[in-house]
Amino acid sequence: MKLHTKEITIQTKNKFQIIDITAQIQSFISKNKIQKGIATIFTNHTTSAIIINENEPRLLQDIENNLEEIFPENKKYLHNIHDNNASSHLKSILMSPSQTIPIINNELNLGTWQRVMFVELDGPRQRAVNLSLIGE
Ligand code: ZN
Repeated sequence: MKLHTKEITIQTKNKFQIIDITAQIQSFISKNKIQKGIATIFTNHTTSAIIINENEPRLLQDIENNLEEIFPENKKYLHNIHDNNASSHLKSILMSPSQTIPIINNELNLGTWQRVMFVELDGPRQRAVNLSLIGE
């Protein structure tokens, strides 16, 4: 089986931002004509995450609000002596830097409401997301 890899660059605009990257992943699968296999999506950063969830604006606001409630930015953290972003690191540990999704019939095998989304927790920044496809 072949391995196909690609790096997606994402320029975020806000401190907190959720960006739907499902279409970019799907187009890479289509381009490589993979009928069945596995896609992994990995972010190379310690203040970001990859989630699979519903892309509904009020839900995305709920995610932001609740992460902020758990790890408020204005709290005292030891790490803030370095670069003042401890709250962003801590929020990221509640999620994951990667997701694995089956590919069936040349498509990501997502549920009706599932989308793959990049979560920016310390923007604005330029971010890299690695796609790896294994399959045929
Ligand atoms: Zn830091």
